[in-house]
Amino acid sequence: LPIEFEQARPVLQTLESAGFEAYFVGGCVRDTILGKPLHDVDIATSAYPEEVKRLFSRTVDTGIDHGTVMILDHGTGYETTTFRSESTYTDFRRPDEVTFVRDLAEDLKRRDFTINALAMKEDGTVIDLFNGLADLEHHVIRAVGNPEERFHEDALRMMRAVRFASQLAFNIEPETQQAIKDNAALLTKIAVERIQVELIKLLTGKAPQMGWSPFMQTNLATYCPTFAAYPAGLSRISNRLTQACPDELSAWTLLATAFQLTSTETAGFMRTWKTSNVLNQAVVLATKAAETLLQESLATTMLYRTGRANLLAANFVAHELGAPDRQPELEQAYDELPIKTKKELAITGRDLIQTGIQPGPQLGQILANLEQQVVLGQIANDPTQLLAAAKQTD
Ligand code: ATP
Ligand code: MG
Repeated sequence: LPIEFEQARPVLQTLESAGFEAYFVGGCVRDTILGKPLHDVDIATSAYPEEVKRLFSRTVDTGIDHGTVMILDHGTGYETTTFRSESTYTDFRRPDEVTFVRDLAEDLKRRDFTINALAMKEDGTVIDLFNGLADLEHHVIRAVGNPEERFHEDALRMMRAVRFASQLAFNIEPETQQAIKDNAALLTKIAVERIQVELIKLLTGKAPQMGWSPFMQTNLATYCPTFAAYPAGLSRISNRLTQACPDELSAWTLLATAFQLTSTETAGFMRTWKTSNVLNQAVVLATKAAETLLQESLATTMLYRTGRANLLAANFVAHELGAPDRQPELEQAYDELPIKTKKELAITGRDLIQTGIQPGPQLGQILANLEQQVVLGQIANDPTQLLAAAKQTD
């Protein structure tokens, strides 16, 4: 057992000693069997939330309505969820109510894919009611039960299928994939924020084409917000993308660049996807740089304006879309810039005012000119030289 499970054993033991059942469940069991590093350990138990809270001195109500209590043990938090069965769905996304049950089988039945429906006892015994082990071994993503029904219950599961395909380099089982194709339009019922998380996991997954290709073939792509307007951009990604996007920034930059969006369009695109303003600004800069890199090399002022992290994302994207990989030269050129931000300029507006230049737009213009000359290496970033140059232009 991985060290994370060894450390969590006392938590399971406490629950079991009190007469409840408790298991490791979901992604952590899957990843343990695959020999992948764990990022968190989830526990499922027959104990009701109040019963869990009575047994442990430190708990946090992280999702009490869904039966989830975080147990704090030796500095680690364990999300512990009461077995539940999800009954009726009327809106294709959330169950109308959550029903707690005492039976593990009921809980495993409501999980999305067979590889995610495994449970493990404290002693390492695996409970495999849906042949998840065989599917893990054969690298298959298969819905638990009737795929059609499962995607009707929760349409987000269709996006989860393609993102697991990319992350694990697995294939989607044909009936499951057909059900996605038949129900792809239900994706429009799902909040953009939740689709976005899965889309980015798909693009940053280790085998992006293994997720992207069913994403396209099932028409899920068409039902993603904004995507239907960019068929050529979508095929560009189908034809070109070979590597995992290194991060979220690169993933969004890939989309905006493949879709050939202008800066204004990129900003609007990102707003539709409800990403943060900080990320939006970075994607606008990186996309502009990537689009330039696809045509020519970057001028020094653009290097400066784009910033280091955005440049690396731009280079990744441009390279994936057919430009030569210019990473070493871009990094070197960037690192050699005399200044990286306006703050590093050796004089400020105040210094200029002290030499008698009037405050106002002209002063801003003088500063901007000096900044540009410093960036281009036309003048040293030295207060005396900068002040002298400012006096001349005033
Ligand atoms: P990751 O490594 O990305 O965290 P995960 O499998 O742990 O993968 P989570 O979203 O953390 O995914 O969910 C934990 C578990 O809860 C899943 O393994 C699955 O059993 C169940 N689950 C999560 N989302 C759904 C869903 N929409 N429908 C059914 N079961 C789900
Ligand atoms: Mg998880």
